[in-house]
Amino acid sequence: MLFKTLRSQLIVAVTLVVTTVVLVQLCIRAFVISPQIKSLANESLKFELLRLASEVNQELRALENLVYDNAVWDETYKAVSERNTAWFEKTYFLPLSYSTLGITGWYFFDAKSQLVAGDYKRVGTNAINIEKQIVQSGALVTPYLLTEELAKTHFAIIENAPVALVASPILPSNEEGESNGTAIIIQDINDAFIQRITPNLNGDILLHPLSTLSKTQLAASVKYGELGDQTSTVKLRESDTARLYILFTDTSDNPLFALSIKRPSSPENDSIFEGSLLAGVLFSVIALIVFYGFLNRKLIAPFYQLLRFVEHAQDEKDFSLRCELDGSNEVFQLSHRLNQLFKTIEEQQSNLSEKNAVLENLSRTDALTGLSNRRYFDEWMAQLSSTQKTTHSSISLLIIDIDHFKKFNDFYGHAKGDEALTLVAQCIKQSVHEATDKPFRYGGEEFAVVLQQTSLEEAKKVADNIRSHVEQRCYEHAKSPTSTFVTVSIGVACKEQGVNLDSQSLFQKADEALYNAKRLGRNVVSSISDTN
Ligand code: GH3
Ligand code: MG
Ligand code: MG
Repeated sequence: MLFKTLRSQLIVAVTLVVTTVVLVQLCIRAFVISPQIKSLANESLKFELLRLASEVNQELRALENLVYDNAVWDETYKAVSERNTAWFEKTYFLPLSYSTLGITGWYFFDAKSQLVAGDYKRVGTNAINIEKQIVQSGALVTPYLLTEELAKTHFAIIENAPVALVASPILPSNEEGESNGTAIIIQDINDAFIQRITPNLNGDILLHPLSTLSKTQLAASVKYGELGDQTSTVKLRESDTARLYILFTDTSDNPLFALSIKRPSSPENDSIFEGSLLAGVLFSVIALIVFYGFLNRKLIAPFYQLLRFVEHAQDEKDFSLRCELDGSNEVFQLSHRLNQLFKTIEEQQSNLSEKNAVLENLSRTDALTGLSNRRYFDEWMAQLSSTQKTTHSSISLLIIDIDHFKKFNDFYGHAKGDEALTLVAQCIKQSVHEATDKPFRYGGEEFAVVLQQTSLEEAKKVADNIRSHVEQRCYEHAKSPTSTFVTVSIGVACKEQGVNLDSQSLFQKADEALYNAKRLGRNVVSSISDTN
């Protein structure tokens, strides 16, 4: 498995969480916040457009009221019916007020679209052309198409300039009967008009004749007809033009000109990788790293410490160590429990080794005499043979055998025989130096003594001490042909300095010497030097 350790698994988990947090934040940004910001921005754009349209509307509504007031009036109705042009030119008081209002033209047509009276103030224009263009604009009211909305505004290009044609059917004051013509006010859409609608819009309205509008600007523009009032729904075209355009069209929906206003700046950056998002992601990453650090410090690192501690104890079989962890949490409690467990194991180990030592001692000791047994003799000799330094010193071996012991046993019985064996063992123990000499019960009634750093001569003296010691104990042996007391024969062999110890050969020599001693009449010490 790839991520086997707790730490690597934690790193993977933290990385996954960080990635998830980043992705979730990106998704929230992309699918929730960004659309909201976009819609907010859209709303603000709509609001700007509606305000501009509303200002234009307001201006035109005033003109519509004005034209209505003049068209739905008995005097006007009569003058148009009679085609009384003079009445309009001499008596009609409105031209003056039109000019003070900044209106560029006024016209009265009869029901057959024939001009009754009119005036147009723009310099350099041809009156006949203007009349024709007004008729062509479709602004004249057809009597049988009268609707409740009496005054109405159309836009047109008159003499190459954009205008609003504010028209009203001419009716008697009671608004009854068929209209007998159309009254029209012409309002040039020019800088003066813009000046009038500007005050509430912080200025910056521009007029764009059709010829100056680029395709992009045209595509981005919203039609004036779609911008009724503030409650109307406005479909903004997706565009990043610097200005917002309102397009004015004629009665056949052909574009004529546009008004534009500066696009308000977006309320917030709506790109997905925006500062606050990056800050949020950074904060999440830092928080998770801190979380990882905390887990690492509080859990993973102590856990690894515990693991190494247990591994060491198990590998080295050393339970004396104690794990030192700070704190009071569960990991600390675990370490505390482990320490207690180790202490128990250590105590049990110590008990066991004490018992083992006792057992080992028992397994090496002869129960009857209390001397070390044959098993231990073999171990002892093997150990001596493996120690290099024995080469530099002389080692002697005594083999002691009770004389005519079979006879003793046969005569006195085994119990007495055991007593004699114990006596001989005592004599041996008392005759040797504990520091350098090691006595063993080798076999039934045979003993061995290993004497370290002891020459053959010295060993012979020790052997003779043992022999005379036994003899002097005067333990009765009525059936011994050698003496009236229990005696021993001793074979002595010695490995001299500078010679490697060969325990088997040394034993054979000592045994040979013992055989000699027996042959020489018993109760005798005999020796052979191992000089090979
Ligand atoms: P030798 O002088 O030639 O040594 O004569 P021996 O009779 O002692 O001959 P050997 O060494 O062959 O005899 C061993 C006898 O020692 C045989 C047995 O009766 C006796 N013996 C061996 N082990 C024990 C023991 O543990 N207890 C007793 N009581 N007798 C033992
Ligand atoms: Mg024997
Ligand atoms: Mg014997």
